[in-house]
Amino acid sequence: MAYLTQPDYVKYVCSCGQLKPITSLYFCRHCLKIRCGFCICHEVDSHYCANCLENMPSSEARLKKNRCSSCFDCPSCFHTLSTRATTAQPRQPPQDNAAGGDAKVENKQPKKMYYLSCFNCRWTSRDVGIPDQPVASGGWPERTNPFTTRVNQLLDYYKAIALQEKQEKIERERKKFSIRGKFITLTDKTGLTGAMARNIAGLPSAEGGSSSAIANFTPSQASADVAELPDDIFTKDVNLKQITSMCQRLASPEWQPASVSRLHPLAKLLSVKRSQRCRACDHNLTKPEYNPGSIKFKIELLAYYHVPEIKIMSYETIKPGQKSALLIKLTNPTGHEMQVRLLQPEDVPPVEEDEQPKSIDKSLEKSLNLEKDASLYKAMSRAPVLPPSCRVTAPAAALSVAPRDDAAEYDDDATHDDNDIILWRKSNKLALRLEVTADESVTPGAPAQSAFALEYSYRNTVPPSATASQHRDHTLYTTLLLDLGTIGE
Ligand SMILES: [Zn+2]
Ligand SMILES: [Zn+2]
Ligand SMILES: [Zn+2]
Ligand SMILES: [Zn+2]
Repeated sequence: MAYLTQPDYVKYVCSCGQLKPITSLYFCRHCLKIRCGFCICHEVDSHYCANCLENMPSSEARLKKNRCSSCFDCPSCFHTLSTRATTAQPRQPPQDNAAGGDAKVENKQPKKMYYLSCFNCRWTSRDVGIPDQPVASGGWPERTNPFTTRVNQLLDYYKAIALQEKQEKIERERKKFSIRGKFITLTDKTGLTGAMARNIAGLPSAEGGSSSAIANFTPSQASADVAELPDDIFTKDVNLKQITSMCQRLASPEWQPASVSRLHPLAKLLSVKRSQRCRACDHNLTKPEYNPGSIKFKIELLAYYHVPEIKIMSYETIKPGQKSALLIKLTNPTGHEMQVRLLQPEDVPPVEEDEQPKSIDKSLEKSLNLEKDASLYKAMSRAPVLPPSCRVTAPAAALSVAPRDDAAEYDDDATHDDNDIILWRKSNKLALRLEVTADESVTPGAPAQSAFALEYSYRNTVPPSATASQHRDHTLYTTLLLDLGTIGE
């Protein structure tokens, strides 16, 4: 989701350090922090087909290889295929001659037959010789993967290896505990057998099965014998209409047809509905409705509804060592009056860092099933480099912005303050007249970027929990980066 007019000229600094436009940010009402797609957990809620809206549990989706059994995509242009009906004249001349009379009339009854057709590129299933089907949905011939046996072998092998590694890990844990001497393992104390322990741990007990899968596995061998290219490969004219493009070939990795006459309809890939969770507090940030036909959300904590929004209205070209005018629009999206103050980015009080790494480790591990590796997250989340060369002159006074009023959207009247900073005021919007001062050192032609911070009051409507002494009113900070074109001469 992005604006057509201002894709990402205004970026917000997420609490993890990423720079994102407000339309791709979330706001956790429990931590009171901005979160982005990188610093939240993504969970798959349900699988569904985007074409027929059939919903299915994840086990079924896995069984169907995440593809819908009744919808197809065009193998040529990847548009959804439509089922078309034709009437086929029955061709049974010998029977007609023999029977005659009433039977003749009955036999001549035209029969409906169906084929698949692409409304975008006009590809049809008849082009590749797939016979028309007597039923509208399903029944399309399925091709078997020529490498099914090998793929299954590989799958069994890797499953066995994963199982073995899991068992080894359990063994290691057990040894570690017994060395310490403090803990008595479950097996020692209760007389549980190893198989029972594995059962409790949710592991299959067939130890023999896994080792046999590993022992019987034959690894692939690289071979120097490769079929020669045909003699006319460099001399024969290429007809681009008859050979497939790389995308078309790779869309069906099992067959990889080289010629368009071998293209087959592609079973449509399933889509997922996902919910997103804050990594620090485990609360949901978004949760969609279960019904695949619904585009509504049960929970939808988007930054767009909670964080003051800044849009650039106009600006003068930034020139080295000069002041340029900058007009911005500030919107209060919340239903409460907001006190906003503009600050320099370095004036934002530092956030207490103590809760962050611990909780992120925990949830990273939970969501990605990773070993604890804080260094990974630390390396990726870093404070963005803010340009110190272009400064926004920030007025010291706090500005109050009216709450959002849906009825006032139709109001055209803007009030003009006799204020240096506020150009006009309209419902929950403010137009601000600011100045950008560029350093002498900036080079003409380089991108002109400027950063400033917002201090804003936020009223939390979440009912306070029994344990935490939560205040309803908070003072929050956010840092923004403005993209102001390029530096002029
Ligand atoms: Zn949170
Ligand atoms: Zn983030
Ligand atoms: Zn479908
Ligand atoms: Zn097509």
